[in-house]
Amino acid sequence: MLIILTLYGTAQVSHEGRYCIINIDNIFTVFAGLFGLSIGSFLNVVVWRVPLGRSIVSPPSACPGCGKEIEPVDNIPVVSYLLLRGKCRNCSMKISVKYPITELVTGILFTLAALHTGYSLPFISYAVLIALMVVVVRTDLEQFIILDEVSVGGAVAGILLALLPGGLGILTSLITAVAGALFFLLIRAGASIYLKKKNIRTEAPEGFEDEEEEFQGGMGWGDIKLAACIGAFLGPASTVIAFFAAFILGAISGGAMMVFGGKKRNTPIPFGPFMAVGAALALFYGEPLWNVYMNLLG
Ligand SMILES: [Zn+2]
Repeated sequence: MLIILTLYGTAQVSHEGRYCIINIDNIFTVFAGLFGLSIGSFLNVVVWRVPLGRSIVSPPSACPGCGKEIEPVDNIPVVSYLLLRGKCRNCSMKISVKYPITELVTGILFTLAALHTGYSLPFISYAVLIALMVVVVRTDLEQFIILDEVSVGGAVAGILLALLPGGLGILTSLITAVAGALFFLLIRAGASIYLKKKNIRTEAPEGFEDEEEEFQGGMGWGDIKLAACIGAFLGPASTVIAFFAAFILGAISGGAMMVFGGKKRNTPIPFGPFMAVGAALALFYGEPLWNVYMNLLG
């Protein structure tokens, strides 16, 4: 996949109208993809340890089954999983396929980012946003958590990165962050009034029984903070595209889960993953998506 994407990148016609395979952007794209694979591996550690309040640097990763430290040779993104056939070398405990998928997805998204930005500073913003969104998808799907380090920390990072040459500028970034959070806050307020009126109570997911109130507004506080983060990175136009995509994806998936998955109306579905996917779509396909929306609206 990475190779295909890279080849796609190399198919850009140079100024003389000839294909020029070895140039700085293409070399950069290959390294960005490899870098993304290893960042994905690091994000696996983040997803596992940060919610538990553990350090992400020490101790070194160990098998949760037998506790044996994972050797560097067994810690190569995607490759080691395939060579070990998804099992611990020591105790043969099954390794979740989530790990190589996280690595692969991060690698592919970093490759796409490099193809978009070329060898330039905006790549940093792309890469940071992608890494944050990958963590959101994992933690929200698995544990109904969007870490403050990711949402609030991400918003701050987005605002600071907007200062880079070619960036949004601090004011645009800051205003979009605040507007994004306010928009989601309004949705939460509106939804909780509506649901109260209709006497619909959302069941808190397992492990969150004592935080039931958090789930009574469609959007959680994590989603509101995440909206600020996405706004800070994307700026107004792309943020609108990202949120719109998130709501469409959420509606489609929610409907599908009720029809095929036997989900009830009052079972909460984490919304963070839809926002994360929406943000990634807006990042890479903002303009074509905008045209699709315009056509939908007539
Ligand atoms: Zn083991």
